[in-house]
Amino acid sequence: MKYANEISKRKSFAIIAHPDAGKTTLTEKFLLFGGAIQTAGAVKSNKIKKHTTSDFMEIERQRGISVATSVMTFEYRDILINLLDTPGHKDFAEDTYRTLTAVDSVVLVIDCVKGVEEQTERLMEVCRMRDTPVIIFVNKMDRDGKYPFDLLDELEEKLSIRVRPLSWPINMGSDFKGVYNLYDKSLVAFQPNKKATDEDVVPLEDLSSSYIDEHFNAKDAAQLRGDVELIEGVYDKFNNEEYLQGKLAPVFFGSAVNNFGVKDLLDTFVDIAPIPRNRTASTREIDVYEDKFSGFIFKIHANLDPRHRDRIAFLRVCSGKFERNKFYHHVRLDKDVRFSNPYSFLAREKNIVDDAYPGDVVGLFDTGNFKIGDTLTEGENFYMTGIPSFSPELFKELVNKDPMKTKQLEKGIRQLTDEGVAQLFTQHGGNRKIIGCVGDLQFEVIQYRLLQEYGAACQFNSLSFFKACWITGPKDKVEEFIRFKSSNVVEDKDGHLVYLAQSEWYLNTERTNNPDITFSFTSEIH
Ligand code: GDP
Repeated sequence: MKYANEISKRKSFAIIAHPDAGKTTLTEKFLLFGGAIQTAGAVKSNKIKKHTTSDFMEIERQRGISVATSVMTFEYRDILINLLDTPGHKDFAEDTYRTLTAVDSVVLVIDCVKGVEEQTERLMEVCRMRDTPVIIFVNKMDRDGKYPFDLLDELEEKLSIRVRPLSWPINMGSDFKGVYNLYDKSLVAFQPNKKATDEDVVPLEDLSSSYIDEHFNAKDAAQLRGDVELIEGVYDKFNNEEYLQGKLAPVFFGSAVNNFGVKDLLDTFVDIAPIPRNRTASTREIDVYEDKFSGFIFKIHANLDPRHRDRIAFLRVCSGKFERNKFYHHVRLDKDVRFSNPYSFLAREKNIVDDAYPGDVVGLFDTGNFKIGDTLTEGENFYMTGIPSFSPELFKELVNKDPMKTKQLEKGIRQLTDEGVAQLFTQHGGNRKIIGCVGDLQFEVIQYRLLQEYGAACQFNSLSFFKACWITGPKDKVEEFIRFKSSNVVEDKDGHLVYLAQSEWYLNTERTNNPDITFSFTSEIH
């Protein structure tokens, strides 16, 4: 328990949202509260604006921004908060899913006009896989959105999680008057564009307080009292334990752009969000309080300068203390490695760090030794589990256009897929390479980067597969299946067998014909 004090001071989380819900705006307000930035507008959106045609400058810009804002560390009320950024564009959703394995909780932003959107549902699915605690922020209350009670129902229904409002809006849109905090019974009146630090929080004894009658008209006061009575009647008291188990999501209402309701959210986050927790590894549970260091790579970022092939691997510390220049065991390669220039992300600057503790993220310079999911330890052989791979949506065969550059192409595609840019499948017993992506933009990024960074020209031929299914089952059954379906069976980078189904109908047929084989749309890296 040498590091209990450090661990108790740390909270690592991600803000997730469907694009445009307000993630960037909320991030910026959080950083302002943390004193990490001085001016509004300093956090750049990592969105790629164009959706169909590619704009490589935009991609490069995005890559630049996402290195700079990958992790933002700031202090608030003596807590060291690590905010991990997630890409907004859905074509890069896999990056987001993996980042979610490196955080201890999330804040989910919902646009009150649009409610639960497509990307929100998928992100929540990933959170549920690990029972990640979720706090929901219903944003844009200065707009006429959905009726708050309907929104709560929609959240419960579409996100499959119970919710419990901890703040409650007084009207919305142009008539938005403020929020009442049900958690600490205080009230804040809404004044657009007021500065962050000036929020006037008025503590109230209870809702019968005359303050409400003095500051709101009779209709609004009655509505608030009625709503709150209804909430207290319908919803159980907020249960912190259920939140920590990922079963119950507290809900806040506010307006990020007006910095309204954000402080309530941040204060409650600091009060209730979990500190770094134990992790599951292949051989045992890793106790966060163990003295010995362990950590894993959840993201790899290529250097923007093509003349330097080094990359940045993002390490999440899971237990013990990470120290600069100390040798650690790279489990997959079975070799010892050390890092002379690891860096942290305090206040958006890169600083060399001497040590880091559970919950922290460290950037490691890498010359190609890492791939996503790699584990570092102090000698023991285990790897962290629970880092997901999802079935891609699009499949294309990689075709070499320049036979003189075969080696470069092989190396490039291996390194890019190590970074997690896309998934690489190789024909079982052959050498055909199939790339699986979530969105077309990824193919363009790969083609561009193979040429720019490796000098290798390639082309993609579309394949009409619908899903990748990882197959497991009794050895003889699997072998028999492979024999009959050899043209549809490939291996992922870890040598796991994958069946590429042409359509849902084919998949269902195979499922029926092969009851002993499990077909899964997700796999764990390793
Ligand atoms: P992201 O895609 O989730 O990062 O969303 P942004 O933070 O970039 O916000 C998308 C748009 O919504 C921007 O134009 C913001 O100014 C706007 N926005 C963010 N918060 C609010 C809010 O509380 N009210 C209103 N009306 N607009 C907001």
